[in-house]
This record gives sequence, structure tokens and C-alpha cells, in this order.
Amino acid sequence: MDTKHSGSCLCGAVHFEVTGDFERFYLCHCQYCRKDTGSAHAANLFSSTAKLQWLSGEDAIRVFNLPSTRHTKSFCSTCGSALPNLQMNGELLVVPAGSLDTQVTIKPNAHLFFASKATWDDALENVAVMKGLPT
Ligand SMILES: [Zn+2]
Ligand SMILES: [Zn+2]
Repeated sequence: MDTKHSGSCLCGAVHFEVTGDFERFYLCHCQYCRKDTGSAHAANLFSSTAKLQWLSGEDAIRVFNLPSTRHTKSFCSTCGSALPNLQMNGELLVVPAGSLDTQVTIKPNAHLFFASKATWDDALENVAVMKGLPT
């Protein structure tokens, strides 16, 4: 039985299914990933064998390729949520971990481009932890 993952965007227009296993899980701190996520790093799952199927909203998906780089981002044109995309002529499936609604069972393999990380992205494990909003 192949592993099945399902995912969606924030507004619910786009739903997808991934059949197969992820081989790598990288947290990328490069300047492109920081800009495109608006956060400290991207968190992407990679697979050369899993299959992606769009269940709904495929027409709402936009793909942005940063000229002269291999940086690609797929997102919902309504809510901007990050979505899976195929890279390297369709041979590599890249799935933003946060786009999945099913549990991710593998742990990140590595932080990439750690030399490019944000100045505030340092010893974050020491930051105060709150269960919800600050009171
Ligand atoms: Zn959406
Ligand atoms: Zn990156």
C-alpha cells in the first residue's frame, strides 16, 4: 500500500493528494525562501517517486519562477498559500510541509543555506512558548 497524503490551501479552493513517500525534508533559510514564505525558512518535502494529483482548484494555482534561478513557488491565487510543484522537468516533486493536512512522519534532514539565515533566527528554542495568543 502506498502512503497517501492530502493537502489544501487556506481558502479551501485547492485540494491535492500525494501518493508515495517523501525522501527528503529540508528547511531552507536562503534569501529566496525567506522572502517567499515571509518567515525564517521554507519547510519542503521532496520526492522523486511520489505522484501528485490535484483534486480541485487547479485553475487557481499560479507558479512563479524567479528569473535566472531554480527558485520556484506555486501558490493559490486567492489566498497565497504555498502549494506543491514539480521541478527538474517534472522529476522532482516539492511539497511545502505546511500545505499538508495529513501527518508528516519524517523529520527534517537538514537546515539549508544556514549561512543566509535571518539575524533574528538564532537560539529560537530559548524564546518564550505560549499555548495560544499572548494574554
Ligand atoms: Zn486558496
Ligand atoms: Zn531556499
